[in-house]
Amino acid sequence: MNVHVPDNARRDLALVGCPECAFRFETPNYRLGMQHRCPECEAAIKPKYVRRAPDSGCSLSYHTFLQLLTMRPYRDEVVPLISAWFGYQVEYQGRTLIMHNAAGRRVDTETMHEMIQNSPRWQEQLYRKAGTFFR
Ligand SMILES: [Zn+2]
Repeated sequence: MNVHVPDNARRDLALVGCPECAFRFETPNYRLGMQHRCPECEAAIKPKYVRRAPDSGCSLSYHTFLQLLTMRPYRDEVVPLISAWFGYQVEYQGRTLIMHNAAGRRVDTETMHEMIQNSPRWQEQLYRKAGTFFR
């Protein structure tokens, strides 16, 4: 697979490895912690982290996103913020977050993460909120 990636976007790419076949490939910083399809062996994998993206901008990894949604004190501020953006209803079963949209359908957290990370405005707002905890 030979995809041209513009130079400014390339700086957001982290280097990861496939735990099945050890193939190394690049992925956007925000997709770290999500399931991937290995470009070499095509297994469904959670890639092993090899090298951080040189400039990840305002992106947050999926791993960090899950921490923000499930752990106190982060979730007490982050979950109301996100549910207000999307108009979602939120409840917890233990530490598992259950979200429903206005139509009552279950919302997948990976999809929600992608939606936020593909919106510069939401991405930056979430990054700033996370910065108040992690800085
Ligand atoms: Zn592989």
